[in-house]
This record gives sequence, C-alpha cells and structure tokens, in this order.
Amino acid sequence: MNAPILTVPQADPGAGYRAHKDEIDAAALRALGSGWYILGAEGAAFEKEFAAWQGAARAVGCANGTDALMLTLRGMGIGAGCTVVTVSHTAVATVAAIEMVGATPLLVDIDPDTFTMDADELVAVLNDPPPGLPPIRAIIPVHLYGQSCDLEPMLAACREHGVMVIEDCSQAHGATLAGRKVGTMGDAACFSLYPTKNLGALGDGGVMSTDDAALADRIGAIRQYGWKERYISDTIGVNSRLDEIQAAILRVRLPYLDATNARRAEIAAQYDAALAGGPIAPPVRRADAGHVYHQYVLRVPNRTALMARLRAEGVATAIHYPAPVHLQPAYRGRTPMGPAGCAETARAAGEVMSLPMFPELTEAQVAHVCGVLRGL
Ligand SMILES: *Cc1c(COP(=O)(O)O)cnc(C)c1O
Repeated sequence: MNAPILTVPQADPGAGYRAHKDEIDAAALRALGSGWYILGAEGAAFEKEFAAWQGAARAVGCANGTDALMLTLRGMGIGAGCTVVTVSHTAVATVAAIEMVGATPLLVDIDPDTFTMDADELVAVLNDPPPGLPPIRAIIPVHLYGQSCDLEPMLAACREHGVMVIEDCSQAHGATLAGRKVGTMGDAACFSLYPTKNLGALGDGGVMSTDDAALADRIGAIRQYGWKERYISDTIGVNSRLDEIQAAILRVRLPYLDATNARRAEIAAQYDAALAGGPIAPPVRRADAGHVYHQYVLRVPNRTALMARLRAEGVATAIHYPAPVHLQPAYRGRTPMGPAGCAETARAAGEVMSLPMFPELTEAQVAHVCGVLRGL
C-alpha cells in the first residue's frame, strides 16, 4: 500500500497563527502586560477598526458569534412573543440564538444552487404567516459558505412588513452583493470570530455591526450586565465580552483579511479549473456576489465514496452540515417550518462536502488536491 505523498487538512487554524506568529505574539504580550484584560483599549480599538473596515457606523464585540446574534435580538427588543425567520441549513448557533431570547424560530427552505435562504418562500411566509405563531419580527438570513444570500428581495419584503433584518455574516466577512459588503444592507450584522472563520480569534470571539448608534449602545450595555454606569444595571443584561487578548490578536489579523480572502478565491479558482469538464460541478456562484470562500462546497450524491477516495489520497474533507437543524435531536418534531417543509435543506444535507480551504494552503497542497480532482 502506498502512503499518501502529501496530506492536506480541511482546515488548519494553527497555520493561520504561524503565518503571523511574531505579530500575534507581540500583540498578545502587549495585552498581557497592559494590566487590563476585559473591555479596555484593545477591545475599543478593535471595534473602531472593524467598523471602519466593514463600513458601518458602529461595532460591538462580544464573547462569540452565537451571542452576537442573541445580543442583537435582545437589543432590538425581540424575545418571547416574537417569531424570527431563518434557515435550517446553517450552524445550529443561528437557531439557538433565537431560542436563547425566548423567540420562536420559523425555518424556511434554501435555494438548492447556493444553499442560502429561498427568497420566494421568505416572501410567502411574510405575506401569509403559518397559523398559530407569534408575529414575525425579524429575519436572520445567513450568507453561507462565504457567499451572499439573495438579499435584495428579502430586504424589500421586510421593509414592507416592518420586519428587522439581522444578517448572519459568520461565514462571510468581506463578501459582497452588487458591490456592497454583506452586513451593511440589513439593520445589523453578526459575525463569529471563531478560529476557523475568515476573520478568526485564537479562542472565542464575536462582533456585531450596525449604523444604528442607539442599538449599538443598548447592545454594549446588555453584554455587560445591562450597565450604563459601573455596578448599576439599567436593563437586564448578560455577560458576553470580548477579552483584550483576543481583541489584540484580531487587530493583527484584520488588516490581512482582504488578502487572505483573495487567497481563498485563488484556491477556489484552481479547484474550479481542476473540476472543469469532469463529473462534479463546481459551486454555483451568484452573478452579483463577491464570494469569500469560507468553504468550497461540492454537491455529490455519492459523497461517502468520494470522501473516502480523497482521504486515501491524503486529502481531508468535511461536511457542513450533516444534519439540518430541524432534524437534530434537540429540534426534531417541534421547530416550525415554512410551507416547503425544508425539503431542499434535507436533500442538501445528504450531498454537500467541503474541500480543504484556508489561506495558508501551500501551492503544493492545492496542486495535489487539484490532481486528485482531475482524476475523478
Ligand atoms: C460559526 C457560526 C455561528 C456561531 O458562531 P460561534 O462563534 O461559534 O458562536 C453562527 N452562525 C454561523 C452561520 C456560523 O457559521
């Protein structure tokens, strides 16, 4: 048996650290030496720099991406007695955040080509909500795998119905739609800063952005016990803060984000070329979307065989996600769905697979993956 010549991991957050090790180490040490570890100068500077990069008036850091969604919902006054529409083909966090505030999730199906929220079904449930649910107060569309969802018709319908739009940008830092950054078109945007995300901390982190200064102020208070003034809770809050070490590390990484996104796109272009003319189609790109390739996802009916074949050649793959939220044990049988019953979502979950994708993949690793793809 031949040992694989080269192994290619699917993701490698350690490589992301090593790529800028000296700068990251210096930033972490600076935070350690500062004597101030929670909500200090690093966090405030990261929020300013992130807002400027995003093109938003304000950014508020917090403990993780799930909390960014939860805090944003709370900041908007959305909780018990409200329905929030999202998708089932997403990280479970999107749906978990809705239930964390006591609201009811309503899951609509996805477009089978781009795996993002089906705009037609969203418009249908806004016009004619399923009976027995509290009023729809917000939607959380997810820009999945690094590509914008079909946001424009969703925004129009939400405006018409007075429904808030919270963009889940956890997989789409820097993605665009018709030349505009995702996260700048809805009422607020939420980002996970988990280590493998396009912008990742070396631990947990999250951030939300908005042009609504009052909303940002409310979220800034809720993330710290509802304090407006130290030790005086003005509203009921939680503890969800971004620590100074992570903020300092994120400040090192943010200036590289456009370049690492460009590197992801370069890798994607090489995968596209290797797949061209073969039996497996490359991912479908929306014509007006700037994709940032959080994942490079193929759709293959016989994925088990293909994953085993790649594995035998030293190429790791992953499945994002193997079970839709509505079919996971904690949610099955009790989570409301739109009229489509998430049929495309269930079909996609059985067929998607993600190739290795991170900016530090070497040319040799990419060439090795491409060689295997060409031989399919
Ligand atoms: C990663 C992710 C989240 C959750 O982020 P955490 O930082 O892990 O809490 C939410 N939504 C989507 C789409 C994600 O990919």
